[in-house]
Amino acid sequence: ALKAGIVGLPNVGKSTLFNAITQAGAESANYPFCTIDPNVGVVEVPDERLDKLTELVTPNRTVPTAFEFIDIAGIVKGASKGEGLGNKFLAHIREVDAIVHVVRCFQDENITHVSGKVDPIGDIQTINLELILADLDSVEKRIDRSRKNMKGGDKKYAQEVETLERIKEALYADQPARAVELSDEDRLIVRDMHLLTMKPVLYAANVSESEAANADGNPYVKLVREFASSEGAEVVPISAKVEAEIAELEGEDKDMFLEELGLEQSGLNRLIQAAYKLLGLYTYFTAGVQEVRAWTIRKGMKAPQAAGVIHTDFERGFIRAEVVSYDDLVAAGSMNAAKERGQLRLEGKEYVVQDGDVMHFRFNV
Ligand code: GDP
Repeated sequence: ALKAGIVGLPNVGKSTLFNAITQAGAESANYPFCTIDPNVGVVEVPDERLDKLTELVTPNRTVPTAFEFIDIAGIVKGASKGEGLGNKFLAHIREVDAIVHVVRCFQDENITHVSGKVDPIGDIQTINLELILADLDSVEKRIDRSRKNMKGGDKKYAQEVETLERIKEALYADQPARAVELSDEDRLIVRDMHLLTMKPVLYAANVSESEAANADGNPYVKLVREFASSEGAEVVPISAKVEAEIAELEGEDKDMFLEELGLEQSGLNRLIQAAYKLLGLYTYFTAGVQEVRAWTIRKGMKAPQAAGVIHTDFERGFIRAEVVSYDDLVAAGSMNAAKERGQLRLEGKEYVVQDGDVMHFRFNV
């Protein structure tokens, strides 16, 4: 399953946010492939299209798609040199597909700040520097190795060194590896290095309870937005404390509380949707009378692989898929009406699944 890692300096609100995530809790029986671990929280992805399909099909149950958040606590200044539990935590970041970086934007004299004052940009840079130093270490080691191999005159290694040198230069200039323009070929070279600063990042700007509905009035949030836009990253303002309270409520109580706060939806939902987008994922749907369900794939996956997300047997025995796009189905009003309009397509093994496809797979067992 895909994973987003939550990072940030101590005392910025990571655990509070992570607790809200686990409280809000997904029905784990629906997601047997997810990890059971205190540091892993499974979240369901809210999707209006799923609600609409449920109205159309009135199935026995509806299951959203899900992904995992991992709590990666413990990054402190010097982590890349092994301070704190440094290296162990950096190794955890290596395993995630995207990073949610929690930044403290709330004022509270009772809560110590590691550097003595609220300074979100300084905090971001402290963590980024640790990630950059860790990457520099990997890149330099790899350059040494490639240079040795290059002595044989192999062009492949010369290309590797050229790409890695460009990344090294960026890292020395305090730029993340993701800021370096890379060709598809370059990307293949560095892919297995799992560079930390190559991973997409979103900043969760943690504001105080009183600012939950108007986070952009918080001057620190403005600073974080400016910083993020300079690196092409997203910002989700959120009040971790409020989210922890929301997560304990359900149904009407929850709606009432949101209304009192002046919020349309929980910040957690916004964070989940932003992280899902950051992971570069697509959703397709299955819509039977038993179950309407959303499934997650990576962009570019073909029909058999997409079927394999449901069950490996579906991939192995794939024959073909019946496909209608979500928009066509909703416009037609029912599966039969879509069929009459000629919008139900038969697609084979080479079909590249699109976001919002409603699929029915035919397969041999
Ligand atoms: P972590 O070290 O990053 O995991 O931070 P925690 O989630 O443990 O939070 C550190 C302290 O800050 C706790 O006492 C939280 O209750 C408090 N805290 C977190 N978010 C907020 C907030 O939005 N406002 C206020 N006033 N306190 C917060």
